[in-house]
Amino acid sequence: MIIFKGKEIMKKDSYEAMLSEVQAFHDKHDFKNTGGEELSYRVALMAEELGEISACVTKGKPVEALAEECADLLILVMGTAIAQDFDLNQAFWDKMQKIMKRESRMVNGRIRVSEFRD
Ligand SMILES: [Mg+2]
Repeated sequence: MIIFKGKEIMKKDSYEAMLSEVQAFHDKHDFKNTGGEELSYRVALMAEELGEISACVTKGKPVEALAEECADLLILVMGTAIAQDFDLNQAFWDKMQKIMKRESRMVNGRIRVSEFRD
């Protein structure tokens, strides 16, 4: 156990601790009752953050800016799991198990991992 923001948590970098903090953020602003957990709105917010990640590339921003925008997107993705009531941690491990079995190919000079149906 460690203490983070006055609370005892398992490990600061555990999924459980991160999800708990995102839940606290949702609770602080009452997202559940103020439209903050509406799926279409959340998809738009995630697209906005993806655009900010793109801008880090196109505008040559420092890696710290990229890290912050990636964190913004991660927080939104985790919040979407809260809003839609699914277990993102389980979904992550299920998907990793799937993609670790997939083949890769070079496509236009870059590696692509996919199901390749042709
Ligand atoms: Mg951002």
